[in-house]
Amino acid sequence: MRLVFIGPPGAGKGTQAAKIVDRYRIAHLSTGDMLRAARDAKTPVGLKADEFMSRGELVPDEVIIEIIRERLQSPDCGDGYLLDGFPRTLGQAEALDAMLAASGTPLDVVLELRVPEEELFQRLSRRGRADDKPEVIRQRLVAYRNQTEPLLNYYRNKDLLRSVEGVGTVEEIFERLVKVLDSVCKS
Ligand code: ADP
Repeated sequence: MRLVFIGPPGAGKGTQAAKIVDRYRIAHLSTGDMLRAARDAKTPVGLKADEFMSRGELVPDEVIIEIIRERLQSPDCGDGYLLDGFPRTLGQAEALDAMLAASGTPLDVVLELRVPEEELFQRLSRRGRADDKPEVIRQRLVAYRNQTEPLLNYYRNKDLLRSVEGVGTVEEIFERLVKVLDSVCKS
């Protein structure tokens, strides 16, 4: 199964992504984790990315697209994967489509995790990661609204989008996601 997981910062995507990849035995590709690892290892790409991340802005498309292009070629992606944090712009989505069309391996589904904005701000303020300062949080929510939300229509038009409510307990939300994914697997 090849799936894209979309949701605003603070929606609980990371928590649910870990549970999904465990259940369906697919690779977990988190661009946030990849970029933080590159930053901590002080690679040229990581240092460049940090300039954007620390402001709550998206890193440039060409940087993240190349990272994903390489990562998708790893053998562990052969049995499927969950993309967590990518694509985040229309340019990224189009680049991904082109890559997957070239290899004849289209996406099976795009999952959206929906959470009201007031709830997001509260959750993020409690988390305490380095980029969870109030003004950086605000900027990440703005980036989501302006750059990532348009992807929902893009995938809706391709009939790939399925939306799930991200409010409730971790288990309740996971069950909603599994119900959707099981129906996709069977069809
Ligand atoms: P969150 O979803 O909580 O904002 P992530 O861990 O997914 O956090 O990403 C952290 C930061 O990494 C983002 O704010 C952004 O700067 C950068 N980033 C991650 N994925 C992408 C991407 N696909 N395109 C551009 N920037 C990205």
